[in-house]
Amino acid sequence: MKIYTKILIGMAVGAIIGLTLGPKSSFLTHDSYEIDKGTQVTLLTDKDNPESEITIRATEPLSLRAQQTIMREVTDGNGKTQELPSLVRVKFKFTKKMGLADKDGSMSKALGGAKVGDKVEAWLVMQHRKLDSGELLVLPVPVSAIGSTIVAVLAPVGKLFMRLIKMVIVPLVFCSLLVGVAGLGDVRKLGRLGGRTLLLYMMTTAAAVTIGLLAAHIVQPGNFVAEKDKAALVASFESAASGKVDAAVESPTMVENILNIIPDNPVASLSSGNMLQIIFFAFIFGIALTILDKKRSQQVITLLDTVQHAMILIIHMVMAVAPFGVAALIAEVVGQSGVSILSALLVYSLTVVLGLLVLAAGVYGGLVKFVAKLPFLDFLKAARPTQLIAFSTSSSSAALPITLECAEQNLGISKSVSSFVIPLGSTVNMDGTALYQGVAALFIAQVFDVDLTIGAELGIVFAATAASIGAAGVPGAGMITLAMVLTSAGIPTVGVALILGVDRLLDMFRTAVNVTGDLAVTAVMASTEGEKLKYFSTDDDMKDKTRGFEGRTDREPVPIEPEGEAEREA
Ligand code: ASP
Repeated sequence: MKIYTKILIGMAVGAIIGLTLGPKSSFLTHDSYEIDKGTQVTLLTDKDNPESEITIRATEPLSLRAQQTIMREVTDGNGKTQELPSLVRVKFKFTKKMGLADKDGSMSKALGGAKVGDKVEAWLVMQHRKLDSGELLVLPVPVSAIGSTIVAVLAPVGKLFMRLIKMVIVPLVFCSLLVGVAGLGDVRKLGRLGGRTLLLYMMTTAAAVTIGLLAAHIVQPGNFVAEKDKAALVASFESAASGKVDAAVESPTMVENILNIIPDNPVASLSSGNMLQIIFFAFIFGIALTILDKKRSQQVITLLDTVQHAMILIIHMVMAVAPFGVAALIAEVVGQSGVSILSALLVYSLTVVLGLLVLAAGVYGGLVKFVAKLPFLDFLKAARPTQLIAFSTSSSSAALPITLECAEQNLGISKSVSSFVIPLGSTVNMDGTALYQGVAALFIAQVFDVDLTIGAELGIVFAATAASIGAAGVPGAGMITLAMVLTSAGIPTVGVALILGVDRLLDMFRTAVNVTGDLAVTAVMASTEGEKLKYFSTDDDMKDKTRGFEGRTDREPVPIEPEGEAEREA
């Protein structure tokens, strides 16, 4: 079976596990309250004595198992009376971190002298938040304890896969860019390629935001959110959303971002994985090597070229565990998102996906077919591996090694173009993210009745294009820069809470488009440099073990004798 068929099966299995066995699955009883790290809950050790109240702030994700629920008649803002849970007897473990946080021992005392490792019981005080519509929202919301355990057990498999591919990014990008630049030999050609690449990246991003804004104008997703859902979403996600806004406040300015491209210590850039700095240093280093005497530079280039090939082989080994990794990653996202939130934001989510399809088919389709002169379907087949990895990891930087392989192995693009254009794109080009920000900004403005002038919408195009340069290729990065886009157009940032619930799911789609955009621009750049692109199918890969994604690691390892040993034996 081909590698990508296996990955697709892994994704499907993950989605099924998430839906049926995840914490929010409707097939399992919701018997546990999962408290996020940093969130506060109020407990009573004696349900009849308000003085026994203790407040705990979760120092780590906390699982409170429901044992018994006491209901109470509550009247909502519309004068309607209903029975709602008011106290829930919960059982939880007094963890080591709780013990450490309980510096004066007061909590342990209140819980009957609980020691680390003990299972303790108390009454969880449920909150009844009144929404603007007068209805009551009961918090926290219970989930399935078994579901949470299943997801928690699977999570390390996904993390293992993510770490394995991320492990090769820095050495791979550094070596392949350096070898690529040195191989090109012509500094002017590089300058020209760099300028054009950045320009095209900016243009596709601006086109993406514009498509997002148009889609949101046409569909008007803001009109499809019930008043009750709006208030419930804001109430449930406001604290998480304010965390994102805080992160945005701390992000550097544009000038700082530009200056930050130049590393003051390249070794630190390599060790922290700062991609733009690595690109800059490898670029300058590569140019220096082309100016040096060839006899001297060749040794370095040969060494780094070998390192690069070894890194590529590591990726192929890691791909063997990809089906399991993606299954675990998808099970986690699907299981934790649940379907109910999707229904409240269905039209909004569909608008984003529709916009992404228009961007891919219209903009990338046009560029690939008319400029790179490659059938668009062939291009899509070539991009499939990285799209799947980007989709399941929601990280374009994790997908970077695979994007490089797609360009070189599936489209035959030269290393000198791909190793420069793709790492650059994975950091500065996020078309899917920018499009999503266009839809999100307009959606929030529609829900909060903010009228946007043409000037404000143009501001969104500029802000989202600039934000996509600064955003890192990691899950949820687009949500942080969204806060900046919203502020620039005068839209309230609390709106982030509205869409946070489906963010992780939509992140998968937009990341897949982000990497497709990088690959489309790379194809265009290669063809403007005079390269003829050709699609190499998986069948081609099967036939030739030295290329492509199939069967490259099937060769037997050949031991390498250290030179000294060989001489001694002779
Ligand atoms: N996850 C996206 C990426 O890595 C960024 C984002 O939209 O949050 O490309």
